[in-house]
Amino acid sequence: MPMSAPIASDCWRGRRCAGRWTKRGRSGNISPSAPRTATDQTMPHRLHALLLSLLTLLLPTMSSAQPADAAATPVAQAALPAPPGWLPALDALYDAGIRVNGLEDRHFSPEQWWAVATPLARDGAGFRTELLGTSAEGRPLRHISWGTGDTSVLLWSQMHGDESTATMAIADLFHFLGAHPDHPLVQRLRAGTTLHFMPIVNPDGAARFQRRNAQGIDINRDARALASPEARALHGLRERLKPDFGFNLHDQDVGTRVGDSERGTAIALLAPAYSQAREVDAPRQRAIEVAVAIRAVLEPYLAGYLAKWDDTFNPRAFGDLTAAAGVSTILVESGGIEGDLQKQQLRKLNFLALVGALDAIASGSYAGLSRAPYDELPENGDTWPDLRILGAQLAVPGLPPVRTDVSIEFEDALLERKGKIEAIGDLGDEPARRTIDATGLYIVPFHPPGPTAGKGAPVFSTDAPAYFHLSRDPEGRAVVWTLAGDVDPDRPSPAKP
Ligand SMILES: [Zn+2]
Repeated sequence: MPMSAPIASDCWRGRRCAGRWTKRGRSGNISPSAPRTATDQTMPHRLHALLLSLLTLLLPTMSSAQPADAAATPVAQAALPAPPGWLPALDALYDAGIRVNGLEDRHFSPEQWWAVATPLARDGAGFRTELLGTSAEGRPLRHISWGTGDTSVLLWSQMHGDESTATMAIADLFHFLGAHPDHPLVQRLRAGTTLHFMPIVNPDGAARFQRRNAQGIDINRDARALASPEARALHGLRERLKPDFGFNLHDQDVGTRVGDSERGTAIALLAPAYSQAREVDAPRQRAIEVAVAIRAVLEPYLAGYLAKWDDTFNPRAFGDLTAAAGVSTILVESGGIEGDLQKQQLRKLNFLALVGALDAIASGSYAGLSRAPYDELPENGDTWPDLRILGAQLAVPGLPPVRTDVSIEFEDALLERKGKIEAIGDLGDEPARRTIDATGLYIVPFHPPGPTAGKGAPVFSTDAPAYFHLSRDPEGRAVVWTLAGDVDPDRPSPAKP
């Protein structure tokens, strides 16, 4: 059973329910069905309606596919601040036109992103652009700033090149800040903060949609050594600005669960530790309070799907060393929402979360928030494999058939592309994001395209690319389903016999 998606907020507008997000039967989308008329309702009524409709939508969804612990974080609910009053209206405004066109596929190149973002972040819209340097392959590393306030905030994204969710949200944020200068939120942010962005810290990695830079360096393990030009640019910017707040924006594994639940983490937050002892000083306390403000924004959308990242201090990581430099640092890790194949829902939630955090900073409203809603967030738990095939007979030519389970990991977990065999054998009760019951079928491996095609028996072993048929016979004549590296979105599973 696929896990239910916590939200697909376009669904309530009837736009995409029948489209790709529910194509695989990954229905059960729920959404913030807040009233869309922003101005004429009193806040308590609006919030009440928001929460009531969320609850109505959440409960059936979860009860169909989730264990009964879906109420999840009974938390210090009392200590969790109410969602900001502006949230329903900004949600509607986002859908109506803040979301920037041209980033519908999250596998964009840095050049594509800058082609979208540069006109938004123009001087006339209050932005300033500075060239910090170039990447190992000569791509520009840019710093964009905006605002006139005293509180300085540095936000950086995509230091891991295949983690693009927040980068899309930053383009939306540029659009919001530039195109709505008279919006009360924009006015408050302008007066209260000066925002500094370093989007796509790792453009060479982004060009390949890979974690590391062109030199093979993980930039988030290069904060101490500063061997890569990208790490030096970010470090130099931080040292020069000495910001009050830092936002370290990433994506995490889609398979990761919330605590010991079966729910996938949609977003994980962390106020990183600044030393091995993990004590909380004043800057870290402020970061925790801002994380609580973020949770207040996200809770109506993602109750039960929010987690906390592990706060073990890592002296090579940027978040930790930025915290150690006295900056109130917040890590935002976007995970996955089942059915949100291009992370467009997570993109919107990143946008709303960032606006919420920045508004809390600009207004000072974060100060004094109870830290209980942060402390009581469950940590990231187990990471489930993407696909599990149960009870098949493996039929490798020249060997006797053997009964086995197989688990598959995809390079792109949501789209189920570029699969590799992760485990072969009795997988017991080990859960996975998706399971295919292949009892009575044979796994018949075949060669991936390329130089080995047709030479000898195809390889079927852990870490090998996942190319095989499920067939009613060991020779692969009566094929009922095929995995050729990528799952065919039109046939995600064998037809029921
Ligand atoms: Zn990352």
